[in-house]
Amino acid sequence: MSEPPIFYKNPAVAVILSFFFMGLGQLYNGQVGWGVVCMILYFISIMLMFAFIGFLTTPLLWIAGMFDAHQQANLINRKLAEEAGKRSEGTAPSVRATADSKKCPQCAEEVKVEAVVCRFCGHRFQSPASAPVERSQPAVPPASAPRPVEPKDPARFFQRPPTPPSGPAT
Ligand SMILES: [Zn+2]
Repeated sequence: MSEPPIFYKNPAVAVILSFFFMGLGQLYNGQVGWGVVCMILYFISIMLMFAFIGFLTTPLLWIAGMFDAHQQANLINRKLAEEAGKRSEGTAPSVRATADSKKCPQCAEEVKVEAVVCRFCGHRFQSPASAPVERSQPAVPPASAPRPVEPKDPARFFQRPPTPPSGPAT
């Protein structure tokens, strides 16, 4: 069984969660408020078992909860598919924030983790330990060339205490 993408809801998972406790499937679907309502209803229904009405309402709620979780998961998936379709028409799908993307500190756009230069603003990232040799950099950069933004060294800031030590008053 192939795993669905993270943002798609698996109706089977929603049903299985609702099987264990009504409302869990709704929570899985991202319907937190509705899921909590379902859980409270289910809890009340279990309490009603002492009044025997619960024996009728609990199975009904339980089945309804599983059914709803399944329906909602499919509904959400359809919406997500539509949105994904719309998005892919305009911008590249890689814009989505995923594990292999990072945020540009300069323009706050999502770029690939492997990116050395931001494709939006041209910000040059500080390469990690495995820094490749900067091939695009000419030996002598022209004066007008945008130089890589050097981060402020935080150690230099913290060496000095923020407030000068007050000497003993004489
Ligand atoms: Zn940028």
